[in-house]
Amino acid sequence: MDLYEHQARELLAEHGVLVPRAEVTDSAAQARRIARALGGRVVVKAQVRTGGRGKAGGVSIAADPPAAERTARRILGMDIKGHRVGKVMLAEPVDIDAEFYVSYVLDRAAGRFLAIASAEGGMDIEEVAASRPDAVARIPVDPAEGVTPAKAAEIAAAAGLPPQTVDVLVRLWQVLVREDALLVEVNPLVRTRQGRIVALDGKVTLDDNARFRQARWGSDDPGHHDPLEAAAAAKGLNYVRLDGEVGVIGNGAGLVMSTLDVVAGCGARPANFLDIGGGASAEVMAAGLDVVLSDPAVRAVLVNVFGGITACDAVADGILRAVDRIRPAKPLVVRLDGNNAVRGRALLDERAHPLVQQVPTMDGAARRVADLATAG
Ligand code: GDP
Ligand code: MN
Repeated sequence: MDLYEHQARELLAEHGVLVPRAEVTDSAAQARRIARALGGRVVVKAQVRTGGRGKAGGVSIAADPPAAERTARRILGMDIKGHRVGKVMLAEPVDIDAEFYVSYVLDRAAGRFLAIASAEGGMDIEEVAASRPDAVARIPVDPAEGVTPAKAAEIAAAAGLPPQTVDVLVRLWQVLVREDALLVEVNPLVRTRQGRIVALDGKVTLDDNARFRQARWGSDDPGHHDPLEAAAAAKGLNYVRLDGEVGVIGNGAGLVMSTLDVVAGCGARPANFLDIGGGASAEVMAAGLDVVLSDPAVRAVLVNVFGGITACDAVADGILRAVDRIRPAKPLVVRLDGNNAVRGRALLDERAHPLVQQVPTMDGAARRVADLATAG
């Protein structure tokens, strides 16, 4: 998940990177008081999980506390690229001598990290990168070796950054490693007129797989903009919404992915990816069906289960209990195979629910559900 600037700022400070004094509020009146405490003149900055705030009018210098209040009032509630501003950060302004760009980002394809740095940082870094790629240094970082002072010196030299930035480059790497981040970006990292190196902005993306170690940031997950995805995540389900009409539920990510392919191969579009996992209980099956059936785009659901740890009779039981509880108005196609498949199929046959159809093979089940979803 992406942290807000003020949270990223906190992390950078904890790792010894200089940041301006600052405070966050959701109130314009409070902004005036904070400005007074910070010495009067402040930078007022929208706190949203997106970049380009400066260009959108979300970063503004206020000359005195009343101006800080007016500016905060203007910025609070603003919409920046679809993100509503709920809080502003007020920061002590810094006299900028030079703006640099620095980031560490995971390069999945290369299995390494990449240090990206430029002596021409600031709000126009994207244009610089596009028009003059030579002005942006890209240095691979081996995750096992990390950014040592020698590596940091190499990055600084390649980007044309002053030698005082070497220490900051090492500290930013420590933020990435110790805080379980996939991205640490500082733009601008500035040299002040007093010659100090200060992080004026910060973006940190944490690795969601390490969330159990990062409880301090809470469970507020901006990754789930979709309410159904949020509901599924709250039930511990691995659900991703897609834009088709066939709901797909399976056990195991590999099986679900191949099910998506087979459904697409039959000319229908999957409406979601939902993996109920290897040891799924009847409860989990019910929760999964609940989520998939609440998507209005879904016209039919394919449940594709290969019984392993969870036997097919338990899955069948879960399906029947879910159907009784939810009373769906959409057809379900079920394919059960593997552990206790015979017993599971018999359970569904005995019940003969009008909306539940069984097809013994994966291809056959996909064809059936595609027909149901695309008919009429
Ligand atoms: P972004 O546009 O979302 O990346 O927001 P930033 O925090 O990077 O702010 C945008 C720009 O505002 C920066 O590139 C700086 O040029 C400017 N800025 C931010 N803080 C200060 C400050 O304390 N003093 C001055 N003079 N400019 C600032
Ligand atoms: Mn910035």
